[in-house]
Amino acid sequence: MDYTVIIGLEVHVQLLTESKIFCGCANRFNPDQPNTQTCPVCLGLPGSLPVMNQQAFRLSVKTGMALNCDIPPFTKWDRKQYYYPDLPKNYQISQYDLPFSQDGWLEIAVDPENDHPRKIGIIRAHLEEDAGKNMHDESGGGADSQVDLNRTGTPLLEIVSEPDLRSAAEAKAYLQELKLLLNYLEVSDCNMQEGSLRCDANVNLHIHQEGKNIPTPIVEVKNLNSFRGVEMAIDYEIERQLQEWEATGKKLGEVAKETRGWDADRGVTFAQRGKEEASDYRYFPDPDLVPVTVSEEFLEEIRSETCEFPADRRARFREAYDLSHYDAAVIIEQGRTFADYFEDVAKHCGDGKQAANWVTQDVQRELNERHIGIAEFPIHSSVLGDVLSRIGKKEITTKSGREVFAELLKADPNEIITTEHIHEIIQAKDLAIVSDTGQLEGVIAAVIEKNPKAAEDLRGGKQAAAGPLIGQVMREVKGADPQTVRQMILDAVGQ
Ligand SMILES: [Zn+2]
Repeated sequence: MDYTVIIGLEVHVQLLTESKIFCGCANRFNPDQPNTQTCPVCLGLPGSLPVMNQQAFRLSVKTGMALNCDIPPFTKWDRKQYYYPDLPKNYQISQYDLPFSQDGWLEIAVDPENDHPRKIGIIRAHLEEDAGKNMHDESGGGADSQVDLNRTGTPLLEIVSEPDLRSAAEAKAYLQELKLLLNYLEVSDCNMQEGSLRCDANVNLHIHQEGKNIPTPIVEVKNLNSFRGVEMAIDYEIERQLQEWEATGKKLGEVAKETRGWDADRGVTFAQRGKEEASDYRYFPDPDLVPVTVSEEFLEEIRSETCEFPADRRARFREAYDLSHYDAAVIIEQGRTFADYFEDVAKHCGDGKQAANWVTQDVQRELNERHIGIAEFPIHSSVLGDVLSRIGKKEITTKSGREVFAELLKADPNEIITTEHIHEIIQAKDLAIVSDTGQLEGVIAAVIEKNPKAAEDLRGGKQAAAGPLIGQVMREVKGADPQTVRQMILDAVGQ
């Protein structure tokens, strides 16, 4: 069957603020001490009044700008009414018709080697408060359900994409790029296990039949909290909707919009409820909160404190350091501090490609083994840069460079490693490349004399015969450059 997959994502991001969005309670993930981070405001007690958290608004605007959105000069708060045990006020403070940002886009590349990124439209990003968390006893023992209101009032940014995504892989790539951007902006910790970043996927199909384009009913899959979950749930929905279409022939508009959950253990989506329409929520402006006006000065201030975005940095790294798409993507993906580290190493040694190899392989391997981040890595970027520049200047071989690197890693964790240590290690281990060809000439002549057969083979054009000769010379003269030795041996036998 000929069809197109249509996907739009609604991503919810908890913002990294000290306090909640409308009160002074701590904004911290704390499931072990339920209901300890609450006050009359976030509990919705009568007579309490909300006050907007400026920092939450700043972080939101920063994100909106990074997503190329328009930031209108005027925005306001609305109440979205619904009853649920984790929402004690019986309404959620959100933004309805005047969100703080709209009409943006995010560029994604599904395949990093591919030079054709896609622009995914952003309909809007608005700010709201998170609800609490219901905890149901799933043991079957019939214990009570409980509610933890620590999360109530956590600032939550909802980012709604256009239905521009065309496959599960694209949806995953969009979510990964968005998460990376939010990390770079430092607006959220994006911890998916703790629920700081979660997403709903709207999925349907356009069936191409007899020259017509028939949309199937839209299904919203709720609360996906892993990249794998997003990919698997969408792939499952595509198959399920195809079968549904073949069985019923039902089109968009002929059945109510459906909300489904994702069961990660069984790998299936399941029906939850019919989806409410916006009118069911009876939105109206919140009378307790004043509207927010945004000045050009405020926007300029935010712009000035914003970092270079991942996509821009990726492009710049490819250009400035001659990196492949793949290497640039791998480095940027590790976060801002890691990218800074790479850039500093590259600047010190003047060879971006070499710096990329070391940082993504040797350094990365060590970080993984020690379970630490780049900020805790004992070798400073300037020190690694110094090792690499010595390799570049042929003071030491790449192999010796690895030996120096390994020695530096053995240093006392309290000691500050400097470039002086590199010098000491090179001296102590006799790793300096011997550039005194006079010394080499004598050793080479002796080795050739001791191995007439190998020398004869080499003279006859048998290149493999050079290996053992080079090996013997290197054993005699530690630190000799194998390339130089090879050339000198070839010259000596008259090749
Ligand atoms: Zn509170």
